[in-house]
Amino acid sequence: MIKHLLKNILYHINSYPLESNHEYRFCYVFHTESIYNEHDFALLKSFCYDFFKITSKKAICTVMPANNPQIKIIMLQKNIKEELYVTRLKELSAISQIGYHGHFYKDGKEIKPPVKEKETVTKQFNDEIQWFKKNEIDTNNCYSGGWWYMNEDLIELLISNNFNIDFTFTYNPNFKNIFSKEFLKTNDISFGQPFYLNKIKYIQTLIGCHNTNFTDDFRRNLNKLIKNIPSNKKIIGALCTHDYNLKDTIKMTIDCINNLALNPNVSFFDLNDINKYDYKTL
Ligand SMILES: [Zn+2]
Repeated sequence: MIKHLLKNILYHINSYPLESNHEYRFCYVFHTESIYNEHDFALLKSFCYDFFKITSKKAICTVMPANNPQIKIIMLQKNIKEELYVTRLKELSAISQIGYHGHFYKDGKEIKPPVKEKETVTKQFNDEIQWFKKNEIDTNNCYSGGWWYMNEDLIELLISNNFNIDFTFTYNPNFKNIFSKEFLKTNDISFGQPFYLNKIKYIQTLIGCHNTNFTDDFRRNLNKLIKNIPSNKKIIGALCTHDYNLKDTIKMTIDCINNLALNPNVSFFDLNDINKYDYKTL
């Protein structure tokens, strides 16, 4: 409450426009984990419609398949049939662009960076890819990692399964994965700079969008990242949220997208535009 009041005052006194000497190219990537929930799914569809109406681009929904160990448990508890999950994903693929969102588990516990567990991750990854194929859900060869889980083993899996676009790498200090940040730094990749390695185009996830009552928060936080991390003038990357966050934030998130769309330095892209950009080849 006090924070809310202070921010009201702060944004009344100061405005935080995006740095005007930069160009921004954003796509929207969902970490889609709540397909089984009717209410969350309705909000997700509504957001995808609105996002397209505002930007003329499709939101990208990277999804966990129904045979993911965690999703399996929840569906069993809620008595949700796999057929319903598949039907919803097909419906979603008509209004968004689907990708694969991986969360990996061993003995019921999530494997989080820097832990690797190559054997377990490889088996689960391959099983989940088979599930998408069996159910004729096209992942568009597009991946975004859960818990920002990324390492050499995961890159190998992406290559061997013909993925060609990934959104897992990030400089954002809130998204914890040391491998990803060290990799970007070591290869002299700036904030929002796409890169190409082993037939995969990597587009960084820049920042979450958007879970407060203030769209100024988004601009202020993005400006802070640009100030603190070496950046080029052209910033290309993904904004992200979970589908289940929309129940608290959909109005603010849409406000934020509307606000960005009015900025002449901002434009949006989706998977159809991926080849338009220059990638630093490693
Ligand atoms: Zn996730």
